[in-house]
Amino acid sequence: MFAQVIFPLPFRNSFTYSIPADLIDFVKVGVRVVVPFGKRVLTGFVVNISEKTDVKEKIKPIRDVLDDKPIFNKDSLKFYEWISEYYISSLGEALKNSVPYGLDVESKRKIVADMELSMELYESEKNKKSIKAKILKLISEKETYKISQLQKLVKKKSIHSTLKSLEKKGALTILTEIEDAKVRIKKVKYVKLSQSVDETYKILPEIESRSPKQVVILLELLSANKPVQLSQLLKKTNTNQSSVTSLFKKNSVDIFYQEIERRYVETYEELKQDITLTTQQDKIVKDISQKITEQKFKTYLLHGVTGSGKTQVYIELVKKVLSINKTALVLVPEISLTPQITTRFYNNLGDNITVMHSRMSLGERYDAWRGVINGKYKIVIGPRSALFSPLKNIGLIIVDEEHDSSYKQYELTPKYNARDAAVVKGQLSNCLVLLGSATPSIESMYNAKLDKYELKELKERVDNAKLPKITLVDVTAEKKKQRTEGNFSKVLLEKINERLSKKENVIILQNRRGFATQIYCEDCGEIEMCDDCSVSMVHHINRNIMQCHYCGNTKPVPKGCSKCGSLSLKFFGTGTQRVEDELSFHFPSIKIERIDSDSISRKGKLGEILNRFRKGEIDILVGTQIVAKGLDFSNVTLVGVISAETTLWLPDFRADERTFQLLTQVAGRAGRSKAEGEVIIQTQNKSHFVLQKVLLNDYDGFYENEISLRERNEYPPFARLCLIETKDENENNARGAISDYYKIISKNNKYLKLVPPAPALIAKIQGKYRYHLIVRSYKKNDPGGKILRNAILNSMIKYNQKSRYRDIKLYIDMDPQNII
Ligand SMILES: [Zn+2]
Ligand SMILES: [Zn+2]
Repeated sequence: MFAQVIFPLPFRNSFTYSIPADLIDFVKVGVRVVVPFGKRVLTGFVVNISEKTDVKEKIKPIRDVLDDKPIFNKDSLKFYEWISEYYISSLGEALKNSVPYGLDVESKRKIVADMELSMELYESEKNKKSIKAKILKLISEKETYKISQLQKLVKKKSIHSTLKSLEKKGALTILTEIEDAKVRIKKVKYVKLSQSVDETYKILPEIESRSPKQVVILLELLSANKPVQLSQLLKKTNTNQSSVTSLFKKNSVDIFYQEIERRYVETYEELKQDITLTTQQDKIVKDISQKITEQKFKTYLLHGVTGSGKTQVYIELVKKVLSINKTALVLVPEISLTPQITTRFYNNLGDNITVMHSRMSLGERYDAWRGVINGKYKIVIGPRSALFSPLKNIGLIIVDEEHDSSYKQYELTPKYNARDAAVVKGQLSNCLVLLGSATPSIESMYNAKLDKYELKELKERVDNAKLPKITLVDVTAEKKKQRTEGNFSKVLLEKINERLSKKENVIILQNRRGFATQIYCEDCGEIEMCDDCSVSMVHHINRNIMQCHYCGNTKPVPKGCSKCGSLSLKFFGTGTQRVEDELSFHFPSIKIERIDSDSISRKGKLGEILNRFRKGEIDILVGTQIVAKGLDFSNVTLVGVISAETTLWLPDFRADERTFQLLTQVAGRAGRSKAEGEVIIQTQNKSHFVLQKVLLNDYDGFYENEISLRERNEYPPFARLCLIETKDENENNARGAISDYYKIISKNNKYLKLVPPAPALIAKIQGKYRYHLIVRSYKKNDPGGKILRNAILNSMIKYNQKSRYRDIKLYIDMDPQNII
């Protein structure tokens, strides 16, 4: 027998291997196998099995099988094929998503160092604070490391390119080991009574005189009436293992191993609420429920204003799905940022549900993943990566906050959009797809207008709550009247004061983290920039450092200008830290917490803060866009926006849409119960169209204007864009590569619109120069995008064959969410 294997690497072909007799029962379509490949040993996916082969060369045998059960079957393979075709990657790169990170051999690799050479190389690198220097220091001190160990020690994940370059120099060798390839199932010791209850009671008096501790243990086991985990037993009875061992020797207890599941626990908690659906909610639930039983593909767009109870609609529909023995997939934007919705699902659906996301430990993720394969979990909730969880028999796919840009994979190939891919998955699985948002993306609303999706609307808030009253404050005018203090208008300060005195809560949005966003020299005009990226460094006051938000590099704040030495440095631009600082100056006795990616980096921290906010232990939350994400606290009556401009002037065709969504979403945090809510938005562009539509809560008006702009300017949904990026430390290489590709794709592509390539807006990131080419194809000529994809792919093949820059990789981003 032979197996066709593909690899999670950029090449497109499959490779044939023979199946040795002892593995014949284990090799199936959908399992991962370990095979020799050239001089290396690789993990690959079995995509087909055959009795014969046309391959003439010597066929090597499969060495090992990594999975007991297939992680995909022929049907789900179709989905991965679609992903790889649409987003232009190899099938193997798409399938890589089917495995939770850490289960593949790749992450278990080791390095062996040449310690002497490393020491020599370190001497010349020593004064630099680079990753390379850090690694050289480590490997000059110890010979072998696991790559994961090195990643931890240097506090950086992306060290592979550095390791590769050190391998070239001979400082180390990267080894691939197949032992320990799996994350292990966790088994722990359990203790149980080995005799009946009566017999156990009988021996108690006899033991009591000599070893009272053993009696305590037996009593605990008697009262538990089931096996108890050894560590918990010892803790509870305050005894040690020797007492248990003595009981074991006396044949009074048994000690055995049992698997325990590592389960992710959400730190945020709230009580389950009994909710009666409103008439609107009820009607939507009934309509869609009926369709669920038909088991046909269909997509709904649920447009519900903030606070209209979309989550409850999702929960009722998932219950319906469970009642007909089907499964459900619930996608949320960034699960670690949305603990409230996860908790509500847990409260309502209990043990049927599992989360899957990157903040879980490897063991937790592995156990959750196996639980889904084994059918233990029928509902998966998670961010974009949960799209690839191995759920079978799906009845419903929900995409909450479907407008959110975090559904786009922007780092790894294939750069898929989980919202769009969810619709395709629904089609392939013959199930319903429900996209929900208070501010639907222009693309999805357009699809609803074309009747591709059925539109459902929730126009009223639940609990008779009213939408908040929004006020725009012109900060320029207020400044002239001297009615501002620092970043706050007097109006906003007065409103905050008023709410605090009524013991109500406040949320303040400033969508930039750090303290000051630019450090500027008054004498020569120099702005302190990151050495590796073409962006300014952001001042973080509590550690007194400057940080680059693109690569993470930090530097101490200079005493003088790094160009001319002048001491007149000014700190410009406002981040969340400065807002927090000013607030605590104005309201010294008030409890304020900040939520941004700096302050919630520890696992569970956001949940803890939200718990305290819910209990009233925090009065004001200050934060970046994280505070706009779905928070539902009835005591929040005021939302303040420090500056509406943070997203408005981004040079991206979606800037208006993003701003409208962010402001509408954050405004929606206010007044979600009987107490009426209020929103103050500070701006320098009071008359700006987007702000006027936010003010009137006029989604439809915003949509109508935006869609006509998109049509006129030939942007999505009227055209399909593909962004091609090259990057390299040498600017000529990055430029040469993109120009070569441009020349190739320009030939014979009469249906495509091409603009000559140019440096990316952020021209350099992490020391690499970036060039962009945008290829555009009109939907009227190319509705499915096939012309575009073929042109991109064929040009890529030619580029890889002919270009003298072919070593420079082309990064393909179909339907980019971000063109900066
Ligand atoms: Zn200067
Ligand atoms: Zn940087």
